[in-house]
Amino acid sequence: MPLLDVSQVTVAFGGNRALDGVGLQAERGRVTGLIGPNGAGKSTLFDVVSGLRRPATGKVVLDGRDVTRLGPARRSRHGLARTFQRLELFGRLSVRDNLLVAAELGPDRGRAAETADGILERLGLTGIADASADTLPTGVARLVEVGRALAVRPGLLLLDEPAAGQDGEETERFAGLLRSLAADGTAVVLVEHDMGLVMSVCDEVYVLDLGKVIAVGPPEVIRTDETVLAAYLGDA
Ligand code: ADP
Ligand code: MG
Repeated sequence: MPLLDVSQVTVAFGGNRALDGVGLQAERGRVTGLIGPNGAGKSTLFDVVSGLRRPATGKVVLDGRDVTRLGPARRSRHGLARTFQRLELFGRLSVRDNLLVAAELGPDRGRAAETADGILERLGLTGIADASADTLPTGVARLVEVGRALAVRPGLLLLDEPAAGQDGEETERFAGLLRSLAADGTAVVLVEHDMGLVMSVCDEVYVLDLGKVIAVGPPEVIRTDETVLAAYLGDA
């Protein structure tokens, strides 16, 4: 059974169907890619999965439980965490304190400091633990945002363009982190425009275009899929 099972989800903004009968499954131990041109509906799908937006139709099942009517806080208690395309860090707080605040909300709240320090180390952020978040370059700030999501020890981790603003070396390290999270059993769903990253870390890739899933498959198949190439060319 997949950890996340989304089926037949539709969301309309006025006459614009941002999502139209979308299904997506994510499994423990795997990185699932979600790609598509700007405006395809990727962030809206994350909003539906994380409980920030109620779909007009369709279902979100998390670990066998229908959570479609649960709010974001309840879903987070069921092990769901996400990052945002628009960064949501506390700018005036240090990197460590950003992680601490998140850890205080997680299952390890009694050992929040230990959790925060463990994540700093895992993400290679120990050296800048005391830096204020609003002084960080975007690529590093995104890493802190991922750290905040990890602080609640998610079984399902939704990442919305986490590598935007990272340089080549940072992205390579980030790829290693994603693989190690999957190896720990996390179900990772990755929205990302960096095709090199998507193709190198994902086990399976979903392609959204204009609110519909137009292709699903392993990276090597998606890479050469005519429908997918056409959707991206249309975007350019
Ligand atoms: P993506 O993340 O793939 O770039 P989005 O999910 O952000 O796409 O947007 C999908 C579509 O829904 C776009 O046409 C966008 O303009 C529209 N949309 C997203 N959020 C809103 C909103 N809050 N109100 C109205 N339209 C929205
Ligand atoms: Mg988006």
